[in-house]
Amino acid sequence: MLSSLGSKRFFSAAVNVTRILNKHNINPKPIPIFHNLSYENIYKKEISNGEKEIDNGTVAVSTGIFTGRSPKDKYFVSQEPSSSNLWWGDVNKPMDKSLFERLHKSVLDHYENDVKEIYICDAYAGANKKTAKKVRFITEYAWQHHFVRNMFIRPGDDECDYQNFEPDFTIINGCNVTNDNWEKDELNSEVFVGFNIEERTAIIGGTHYGGEMKKGIFSMMNYWLPLENIMSMHCSANVGKDGDSALFFGLSGTGKTTLSVDPERELIGDDQHGWDDDGVYNFEGGCYAKTSNLSRENEPMIYDAIKRDALLENVFLNENNEVDYFNTSITENGRVSYPIHHIDNYKKDLKAGHPENIFFLTCDAFGILPPISELTHDQALYYFLSGYTAKVAGTERGVTEPQATFSACFGAAFLTLHPTKYADLLKEKLEKHNTNVYLVNTGWSGGSYGVGERMSIKTTQACIDSVFTGEIKEVEKVEDNFFGFKVPKKLAKVDEHICQPSLSWEMIHDYDVTAQKLVGMFKENYTQFLDPNMTDYSKYGPQ
Ligand code: ATP
Ligand code: MN
Repeated sequence: MLSSLGSKRFFSAAVNVTRILNKHNINPKPIPIFHNLSYENIYKKEISNGEKEIDNGTVAVSTGIFTGRSPKDKYFVSQEPSSSNLWWGDVNKPMDKSLFERLHKSVLDHYENDVKEIYICDAYAGANKKTAKKVRFITEYAWQHHFVRNMFIRPGDDECDYQNFEPDFTIINGCNVTNDNWEKDELNSEVFVGFNIEERTAIIGGTHYGGEMKKGIFSMMNYWLPLENIMSMHCSANVGKDGDSALFFGLSGTGKTTLSVDPERELIGDDQHGWDDDGVYNFEGGCYAKTSNLSRENEPMIYDAIKRDALLENVFLNENNEVDYFNTSITENGRVSYPIHHIDNYKKDLKAGHPENIFFLTCDAFGILPPISELTHDQALYYFLSGYTAKVAGTERGVTEPQATFSACFGAAFLTLHPTKYADLLKEKLEKHNTNVYLVNTGWSGGSYGVGERMSIKTTQACIDSVFTGEIKEVEKVEDNFFGFKVPKKLAKVDEHICQPSLSWEMIHDYDVTAQKLVGMFKENYTQFLDPNMTDYSKYGPQ
């Protein structure tokens, strides 16, 4: 079976894999092992494993009951030296070493006894060679192998020295293993995502969702890099023809992926970046776009990136195996992963210089924040620590009240160190490189969810373009009554009443009441950062 998949090199790699697995105490003898498969061979395996090919040449998979991450099931082994560094709390919960070892063993036992095939993906995280991490993913499904091959930086053929690939971190995906003892173990559920930093290993059990591997490595990058004084960021990035790079920070669904593709600017990456003394660089080698309501008209470059080698997840297929992106009955979080070269104008080295502009994206379902406003560096740190966005409330009928979410550094779920560590790094870099910062509301305009409407992608793009063309620096601005930042009165392509939300609400009184409510939520959230040992940025936030 191994030789049927090709070259001598593959075979020798597989032999090497035996050694790797032995190191993890997995006895692989009777089990076929596939190592860094080509897309062609991944496709063949997927089809023979019963995944569906659809008319655009892609493969569509279902990730089962979990169509998103399970943040409450994430644990870190509590041991030194990492214990002293970790930001312990709801995001990073402790696990005893002995429990980790028991779960680790149950995953390895599964690989030894139950799996039909083993897939091993060796890749890089980080496009800057100096600080790149070697990452390995052990999975039991071809589509999971496909996902990590898409998402991480694929080693070039000349770097395929598998014999000497010594991973900095290994994720062993035991998606079919559950922890039936979870209650006794005082865990959250039978699902577990456990990290042992000292052993450079993570284990996943009970969930098939591929995003656990993607964001698992991001959590590790957020651990390693700031300790080396490198900023790690939950943001997308692109670069203009003059070499002016831009970052787009934001929580899920705020527009990082959507707004980073731009026919006029080369794409660096859509989700995770580092910022070191040389500039910014992508951690990944692929993109992970939302498919809900995706149309060629609104997002042509993403739509056209969905072709052979892309992998669709949890999208609705009709009886003829045709996709329907407008049917979100499986989940709102339907996704497609594709290697970054599916975006024609991507930046080949996935790197650029120090950013000239930073955008904080927020999807404000209250309709209070202006589509674009200018922040001072102090204000930027306030909004960075706040990490605000607002979700549209659940699917219950008649519930139209938006729900505010505050997530430090626009990605608290992936922070492994205290938020101030990242804020300090950002502060230093903003000052050193004199970077402009803007707050962009990609959410509601003309009223809250239920009354107003979501800002069109075109309007948001026009706001962002006003920064790239320099227009925003020239236009007259007003100070926001509630938030204190500077807001353009109008832009060439964005009307006055859109630029200034107070003008677009039918009743100014409703606007004032809602704005005041939002201010209260910001203030309440910020109390967690009012610590005598921390710089107090609250005076730069709403009063
Ligand atoms: P994640 O971290 O989960 O990957 P993200 O920040 O990359 O999230 P996107 O995938 O870009 O978010 O999702 C933004 C969604 O909102 C897309 O489905 C896009 O079509 C939609 N959208 C609607 N209006 C806008 C707008 N004005 N700006 C940006 N996106 C918009
Ligand atoms: Mn994204």
